[in-house]
Amino acid sequence: MKAPPFSAFLGIELESRGDGEARCALELGPHHLNRRGVAHGGMIASLLDSALGAAVISAMPEEWWCTTTSLSIQFIAGVGQGRLVATGRVLRRGQTTAFATGEVRDACGNVVAAASGTWHLWSSHPGASRKPVENPWGRVVLRATGEQVAVGKIVAVGRNYADHVAEMGGSSATPPVLFLKPTTALVGDGARIDIPRDAGAVHHEVELVALIGKRGRAIAPGDALEHVAGFAVGIDLTLRDLQARAKQRGEPWSEAKGFDGSAPVSAVAPRGEVGDGSGLEISLAVNGEIRQRGNTSQMLRPVPELVASCSRLMTLEPGDLIFTGTPAGVGPVGPGDVLEAHLASVGTLRVTLT
Ligand code: MG
Repeated sequence: MKAPPFSAFLGIELESRGDGEARCALELGPHHLNRRGVAHGGMIASLLDSALGAAVISAMPEEWWCTTTSLSIQFIAGVGQGRLVATGRVLRRGQTTAFATGEVRDACGNVVAAASGTWHLWSSHPGASRKPVENPWGRVVLRATGEQVAVGKIVAVGRNYADHVAEMGGSSATPPVLFLKPTTALVGDGARIDIPRDAGAVHHEVELVALIGKRGRAIAPGDALEHVAGFAVGIDLTLRDLQARAKQRGEPWSEAKGFDGSAPVSAVAPRGEVGDGSGLEISLAVNGEIRQRGNTSQMLRPVPELVASCSRLMTLEPGDLIFTGTPAGVGPVGPGDVLEAHLASVGTLRVTLT
């Protein structure tokens, strides 16, 4: 007979989980009690481990793995019947460790036990063979097959999310702007990026990136998705002070947007697994703290329209990338910072600035 998962076997239910908090419940039965008729310490420990662990899982990218490395419990009162509810909260999450705290309350709301613990985190299945983390120069990696695709040109779209346009002091009535990044700007997951010194502030901009798979010019929006091979998550690193000066003088943004390493891009997920690129949660964390959080449905121009407008005057070819703009929350980063971009259905991109 196949046993159910451990928590379900004990009767523990996950009631809610999200944004670093979780709640688990247990209806006490005779088999949960010790000989004195109160809930066994092991049951309380399992309930707390479930709640705090679920909170940790809710605070990390969905493809990550974690394990409890310590759990300290203070037993405060015995309880022999009724429904117990355990609440877990993440206090802080880093790259490899998370700290969480929580408590168990009885049906009257009295605290039965409290706990704190630490969790070890992995960004992939522990023990799994790691795929190459650095893209070969000028190429992106297809997630499904590991195949490398040579990148032709990198087209980027500015001002495509209203909340970001507003934070930059612009107007959504102004159409999105197109600019280019050189292929020497491209780096992959795991890269260490030597950011320019003495060039002013470097800002992060997390973006959905479309990989073109089929040649076309003046593509109609209705045909545009046929030209997209897949999607990745990327960061449009920007020298904000240089860009502001260029804007003021009416000059191009090339220096501000094109430095080496300014276009980190994750492995590419096939379009069939992602859809049309809309409705995807997108976020960026710096040293584990979320700085940008949005949804690709907030784009002023969705992917098909961007492919159509990019191809209006320049031919799009297999291997071209389109950075599709960033939601609000952009801000400065510096040497030593770890940037972690996440796009639902696509995955995570992590780079370190040096
Ligand atoms: Mg951008």
